[in-house]
Parts: sequence; structure tokens; C-alpha cells
Amino acid sequence: MNRRQLMTKLRQILLRRRDALRRSLSGELRRFNAWEEPTVGDLADDALDTDYGAVNSQLAQAESRELASIETALTMMQEGSYGKCDECGQDIPPARLQALPYATHCVNCQRTSESRERSTPAMDWSRLRNSDSSEDLRLDSYEFIS
Ligand SMILES: [Zn+2]
Repeated sequence: MNRRQLMTKLRQILLRRRDALRRSLSGELRRFNAWEEPTVGDLADDALDTDYGAVNSQLAQAESRELASIETALTMMQEGSYGKCDECGQDIPPARLQALPYATHCVNCQRTSESRERSTPAMDWSRLRNSDSSEDLRLDSYEFIS
């Protein structure tokens, strides 16, 4: 398969996935609206509804993000800039594009940015230890120090 055939194939995959996400998201939104209507019931039912809604809204957020990535990829295809790494400008290998059609970084640059993101939250340990006085956390922290 040459690169042009690959693009055609990936474009079809992206369009299908975009349609599926759009259908799913419009379904989610309909259900959200239903939840906002005043409900008659006891407090336990309300809490259950809220938990359920939160899980669904996280799912919807993930789907929205994926949809945005797909829209970007489709725009880049039209502009002819699709399949190039945002960071280093090199062609993203076909195998990676087939695995992740809306990839915007080559494997190397993706790995670099992921390790950058991972190194940040680790710093919060010392702050947690000082600010939170709960017994459990202090016990954990002593173990962490020693
Ligand atoms: Zn790169």
C-alpha cells in the first residue's frame, strides 16, 4: 500500500469514527438534559443519578477530545499537512498512523512529551505531606520518607 492509498484508507476510518462519536455524543447530551429535569425521589436516588452522570460526563469529555483530534486530522488531510510530526516535522510511520490515525507526533516526540507530563505531578508529594494532617496520610508519608 502506498502513502496515497494509506491516506484514503485512514480518511475513511476517521470519517466513520467521527460519525460514530457524533452519534454517541448527541445521545449523551439528550440523556444529560433528561437528568436536569426535576426528579421526584429520595436522596439516595439523587446521589446515584449524580454519580452516574459524572461517569457519563467523563466519557463524553473523552469522546469530545477524540472527536476534536479527528476533526484536526481531517483538516490536516485537506491541507496536505497530515502525517507529519508536530514537533520534529518528520513523517509519522504508516504503522503508527494505522494504529492511531489522528496521531500528531512521532513515537519519539510522543514519548518525550509524555515523560514531561508524568514528571510534574510527582512533585506534589511534599506539598501533600505538609498540608494534609490526616492520620492515614502521615503514616503513609513516614513510610515514604524512610
Ligand atoms: Zn517527532
